[in-house]
Amino acid sequence: MKFALILFAFFFLNNTVTPAQTAKDFAADWDKQHFSTIAPSDLRHADLKKQLDELKKIGLKVEEVGKSYASREIYQIEWGKGATKVFMWSQMHGDEPTATPAVLDMLAYLQKNRGKSWVKELENSLTIRVVPMLNPDGAELFQRRNLQSIDINRDAQDLQTPEGNLLKKLRDEWQPAIGFNLHNQGSLTTVGRTPKQATISLLAVLGNPEGKTNDGHERNKRICAVMINALNQFVPGHIGRYDDEYNPRAFGDKISEWGTPVILIETGALHGRDEMFLVKLNYVAYLSALKSLADKSERQADAKIYETLPFNSSGGLYNYIFRRANIVNFAENAEPFTADISINTDRRRAAEFAPTFIREIGDLSIYTGLDEYDAKDFYLVNKSGLVRNGGSGEFMFYKKTREIDWKAKDLEKIFPPDAIFTNGKWTKGEKLLLKKF
Ligand SMILES: [Zn+2]
Repeated sequence: MKFALILFAFFFLNNTVTPAQTAKDFAADWDKQHFSTIAPSDLRHADLKKQLDELKKIGLKVEEVGKSYASREIYQIEWGKGATKVFMWSQMHGDEPTATPAVLDMLAYLQKNRGKSWVKELENSLTIRVVPMLNPDGAELFQRRNLQSIDINRDAQDLQTPEGNLLKKLRDEWQPAIGFNLHNQGSLTTVGRTPKQATISLLAVLGNPEGKTNDGHERNKRICAVMINALNQFVPGHIGRYDDEYNPRAFGDKISEWGTPVILIETGALHGRDEMFLVKLNYVAYLSALKSLADKSERQADAKIYETLPFNSSGGLYNYIFRRANIVNFAENAEPFTADISINTDRRRAAEFAPTFIREIGDLSIYTGLDEYDAKDFYLVNKSGLVRNGGSGEFMFYKKTREIDWKAKDLEKIFPPDAIFTNGKWTKGEKLLLKKF
């Protein structure tokens, strides 16, 4: 009796002292032992292959399951031995890379930490299959479409791409219970009409044009709520709801319709944070979701947290706004005029030069710039002599108190500007213009 009591006490205490794995713990784990080191946008197919070799060495099951249009290998990794089948695929759009290192980090962590009780629970409840970089040809060119110039995510009906065919085949043969469709969205997407960037947006895909719900969709809404609660601890207010109409050509919709309810995760950006931070957020989101599925805690989650999330919005945010600039189009010998001017940065790989372009000139008082400068005490000119929409975001600034002969040949040499802003960087006179925020 006494022994039984001690035994009971041991198990009871042992259970209660096992700390629950929280979103903060997932993030701390990632900080300590993430596997990926290359910025997602710089990750090539050749790098992926090397990383998959590393995963094989630690015992993960990595299999070549198909080839891209240009015959690049497409792989699937499997982990776990549970009854619930989880299917995840990343980078169907070649220039949407954040999820690729995030899924690899997740699998590496799970494989290396199988001794942990929460990992064991995942291993025994779930079987996870992941296709990282479904579109390796697009990834190589850092373009959305595959090498046939087809958007794979519009090929779910036509099935003219090898990559789309493969995705359908992998789903049909395995009939997973849940799918995670992993993408990136524009960095200037906002949460509703706020100026807050939508760092992560979620969609529990319905998969039918009538808007009918089902058990899988309801479960996915609760899992989205779990992810929102987790992510809100790191990027409060920066989570949006992806607003998407049913599209019979899209895989998210079709895969849901075929019987695997899909959650779409769209990664945006967060000003001042790099791509690896976004990888960490994805990692935290996936593990929070999968843990809630494995320990069934998703059943207690409140779908309203997802349902009341503001929808994504766009058009209200720019990378840079120069307020009340005195624009001089000296190539036209024109008089200065006052305007706000916005420029955006083109999306490029992290290691590549990202040019900026003028997007709007005029009264931009209702818009927000991630960086804003007060230009009211300055003349703003473009090196070409013309400030026009679509022109390059390379500006020279002159204090208004200066006498400048705008007709002077070789203006920059004879009248050196006080500040120069070139494609997102101050190359002269940094901090001369007052920065807002
Ligand atoms: Zn996409």
